[in-house]
Amino acid sequence: MCGIAGMFWVPGAERYVADLLFAIQHRGQESCGISVRRDDDTIATQKQMGLVKHVFTPETLDRFTGLSAIGHVRYPTAGSSDILNSQPHAIPLPDGSTLALCANGDIVNYAEWRTRLEHEGVTFTSNNDGELIARLIAHRHAVEGLTIEEAIARAQSDLKGAFSALLIHRERMYAFRDPHGFRPYVMGHLTWQGTGEMPAEGTCFASESCAFGIIGARFVRELKPGEILKLERNRPVTTVAVNGLRPRHSVFELIYFSRPDTLTFGEFVHDMRKKIGATLARGDRDIPPGDDLVVMAVPDSSNFVALGYAAEKKALFDMGLIRNHYVGRTFIRPHQEKRDEGVKQKFNPLPGFFPGKRVILVDDSIVRGTTLRKIVRMIKTNGAKEVHVRIGSPRVTGSCFYGIDTPTRSELIANNKSIAETAEYLSADTLRHITLPDLLSLLARPDDFCNACFSGDYIYVPDSFVKTNAPGC
Ligand code: AMP
Repeated sequence: MCGIAGMFWVPGAERYVADLLFAIQHRGQESCGISVRRDDDTIATQKQMGLVKHVFTPETLDRFTGLSAIGHVRYPTAGSSDILNSQPHAIPLPDGSTLALCANGDIVNYAEWRTRLEHEGVTFTSNNDGELIARLIAHRHAVEGLTIEEAIARAQSDLKGAFSALLIHRERMYAFRDPHGFRPYVMGHLTWQGTGEMPAEGTCFASESCAFGIIGARFVRELKPGEILKLERNRPVTTVAVNGLRPRHSVFELIYFSRPDTLTFGEFVHDMRKKIGATLARGDRDIPPGDDLVVMAVPDSSNFVALGYAAEKKALFDMGLIRNHYVGRTFIRPHQEKRDEGVKQKFNPLPGFFPGKRVILVDDSIVRGTTLRKIVRMIKTNGAKEVHVRIGSPRVTGSCFYGIDTPTRSELIANNKSIAETAEYLSADTLRHITLPDLLSLLARPDDFCNACFSGDYIYVPDSFVKTNAPGC
């Protein structure tokens, strides 16, 4: 998973993009980058390993400024954790111009297209999907003579998988999305106190709508699946084409990945999570009420699910674990040892909270089971009488090939253990997940969602059906 952001035709666009990226830092914490179009029509790119606030200091931003900028935060995938795979990718074209592109997603037929382009003489500098999209468009524009928008449209039909992308070329910016709209993608509007000839408004883009608040921009709308938007100086934003197919929005964004203050795929994330919690509680009649019963979230991703659960069950919601916010998302660390370490550093129990309590512990999902196992043990060691685990997603039985870096099938606990065995492994007294039909019943348009990681209903699979830790993002 990764995140993208862009700002078109506003002075200091790179600062706005840095702020937008900061707001979606949860989508990727390994590296970040920004490309800026400068007034002399060159594109400057700065990318580095590390968090947005560390990389894009005011001094760094002072060194490259312009009226349009795009940026990216990268989520690490094992084996590809390096600066070469970070984005945006800036590709020099034979006419002296540069094309810069960043994308969030995963291309399922990456190998096929990389090989084809290499046969045609294209050289790659990374193993990253974003670079493939950039090189394909650049090649078709520079060598085959297609316009940028024609090249984007061709890429939308040739490349299978997920991509929400932004491209700068000369004075133009393009925002485009794969035909199924796997990953979230929104457009916003910024009114700026312009002076003189400078524009008084600008258009911005981000993976998640929660980003717009930080810069005072207004949410305009989501991009349509397959949409290509063109942004030109002093012209309204135009939709060049909508090459959409059946939507396959990632349901996992609503369950876990997106921030609760985001609106995506037509749903308020916080609201959806509360509904998931309430649905779980309605099916849960075996846990008797009592003063010793407390509903708790694994902070922070399941807070709203737990709130929904507690409200429906009329039970007390409380917080027995404190999360250290400086640890970040432990799952998105590339190596297992680092993940284990992260879990220990991340959560600490409130002293004196647990003795004598029956805890309903709510989490968003179980993937490998690493996190919950440690947390349940921590809670029990601290005196809880019972721990009942409730999960806001169905069992994860398949890898995601569309941008969420879930592990291989064999690492997924749901493929190795039954519910009872998983409960035992976690030391939980009981374990329940929301069912897929119940989850789908909460969505306004359930047929528009991809739920392959729960159902195995994949629209495309990579050739080998093995998650290769390909470059993704
Ligand atoms: P695990 O220890 O592997 O079971 O991790 C499960 C936890 O990691 C979940 O409760 C989520 O909070 C989080 N998570 C699930 N899927 C992902 C993902 N693809 N990337 C990052 N974090 C995830």
